[in-house]
Parts: sequence; C-alpha cells; structure tokens
Amino acid sequence: MFARMENFVNASPSKRLSREDALGLLRSASPLAAGELADAARRKMHGGRAFYSVNAAITYSNICEAMCPICSFARREGEEGGYLLTPEEVYRRASDFSKAGALEIHIIGGIYSKLPLEYYLDVVRAVKSADKNLNVVAYTVSECDLISRVSQKPLEEVIGLLMEAGVNALPGGGAEIFEESIRKKISPNKLTADQWLDAMRTTHRAGLKTNATMLYGHIESDEHVVDHLLRLRDLQDETGGFKAFVPLPYRQGKSSIQSKASGAYDLKICALARLILDNFPHIRVPITHFGDRLAQILLNFGADDVGGTHWNEEVAVSAGAAQTERDAAFMRRTIAGAGFEPVEGNSNYGA
Ligand code: SF4
Repeated sequence: MFARMENFVNASPSKRLSREDALGLLRSASPLAAGELADAARRKMHGGRAFYSVNAAITYSNICEAMCPICSFARREGEEGGYLLTPEEVYRRASDFSKAGALEIHIIGGIYSKLPLEYYLDVVRAVKSADKNLNVVAYTVSECDLISRVSQKPLEEVIGLLMEAGVNALPGGGAEIFEESIRKKISPNKLTADQWLDAMRTTHRAGLKTNATMLYGHIESDEHVVDHLLRLRDLQDETGGFKAFVPLPYRQGKSSIQSKASGAYDLKICALARLILDNFPHIRVPITHFGDRLAQILLNFGADDVGGTHWNEEVAVSAGAAQTERDAAFMRRTIAGAGFEPVEGNSNYGA
C-alpha cells in the first residue's frame, strides 16, 4: 500500500490521499511509513527550513460560560482564580513583551458574554499602541461569533472592525474535532462544526488569514480524525485562507475525560496532516504543547514550524504542559539540533 501512496505526495488534486488510504496510514502499527512520505512532502515545500517566532500570549480572561468538559483553564464568573485584564494591563504587558523582543502577540480568552465589542477592540488597540509593529493574532472564531451575537453585528462586520483595530490574523482554536457526537461530549456549548467552518469561511472572505487546529487524543476515532482533516482541506480549496494547521494533543489536566495521546499517535497525526492537507502551506507543532524534543522529531514527520516562544502561555500549562524558558536562541538551537535551518518569522510567515 505504501509504495502506491508515494504517488499521492504533492500529486495532482485528482490523486490526493483518499479517506481509505488515510485510514490505512493511521491504523498501521508503525508511524514510520507515513513519516517518510510526509517528510518528502514537507521537504518539497520547504526544503530544509523550519520556522519559529518570538511571540507572547496575552490571555485577557479565564472567565468562560462554555465550561467544556475537556478544559482545565476556565473559571466561572466570581469563582476563585477568575480574572479579567483591563486594556491598560494589556498595554503594560504588550510593552514589556515588545521590549523583551516579541514580534507578535496572541490574544485569546473565554466565552464571556458580558464583554462588549468595544472591550475586544480596546484590547487590540492597547497592543498596537504599545508597539504598532507587533503582529496581532487575536480571538478564535468562537470568540468572534460571541462578539457578533453580543453586538448584534454580522460576523463580517466584526472581522472588519477587528482588522481596523489592528488584528493581523486569527488563531485556529475551537475546531476540536468536527464530528458532532464527539463535540457534544467534549465541548457541548461551543460552535457546531458547520458553524466553525462557516465562521472561518466568512473570516477568509473578509480578508483575514487564519490557522486551523485539531484537538486529538481524547475520545475521537480514526474516522473522526480523517474526516476533520478532509473537511479542512475542502474549505482550504474553497477559500485559500488557512496558513497553518496546528495539531493539539489533548492533556487531561483536571478533566475527567482521559487522554489517549501518545508519542506514536503524535507522529502519525502530524504525518497524516501533512499528507492530507496538501493545500496548507504549514504544519505547526507548538513547542508549548509538544516540548522541544518531540517537536524536533515532528520536524521529520511533516512539520515545518515549531511555533513561537509563546511567553506567558496559560492554557496548555493549566492542563499540565511543561513550562520551559524559551527565547530565540532556544528556538534556533532546537531547530538546528534536528538538522534544519531555523527561519524566524511570525504567524504570517513574512506576508
Ligand atoms: S476550552 Fe475554551 S471555550 Fe471551552 S471552557 Fe475552556 S476556555 Fe471556555
């Protein structure tokens, strides 16, 4: 089967990896066959280069009404440990990060319907007034959908206002796994898969690029993984608005839903993503989620981007990810140590 699959690597769209062959790769005992094919595809696109960025996270609030069963990060309003940053505090943090060398700020928070549109715009403006050159990657489409509902403005208009305030791209969170029966169990109060995909479609049409994620290693099946990736590929064929696919291994943290993530599964998922998503420019394996050692290996399994330094990351850490001191030298060392040429960029890859 695998010799036949070599025909699919960067082949014409009519010879793309099929659902059946993708399932075959995912179910094979060893990740090495998929890895070899994914590495060939990745080298065809990016040669020996691998990307990283120097960035920081500003998580404006952990108060969230969605209360997803998989989440270790959210707090209810009034619960101990809950917080909401003022735009002034966001400005202070962005200034500090800029002085420390960050080129990009990632902004996300919970689903909190008491915040008005102006708050979200002020947070973005605060970052831009701290340093107008900071690349701002802000608000998942779940948050954008909430802003749209609260402000009673169409999503397209909200995206336009966010762009005017200084947003340069959207992160790819909230995708989880598209299969509805699984979504109902892991994130029942968030957008449905169709709503998430449609919100991405609208965002791309409004002129903003985004990433796309997949949370795996919980209660999904192989079919659900392949279906998720194929639906992303279809939307990318339509809009061309995705820059990077970001696989996210589930960590149990405080959740009662067990994690089935493993190193071998991480390798297969990364390789499969590179092979199915032949229209996605980048596969990003955030060092914050995978650690530097596994990220080095994943660079040989289809990934071309180890993500950012992501200073002050809170969401993965709340679920048990290791807190590592990361700076540009660390990112470059990690990439070079895996045999690749480090290239600094941001989420727009220089665009
Ligand atoms: S995963 Fe996101 S939306 Fe769900 S409870 Fe946590 S913060 Fe809220």
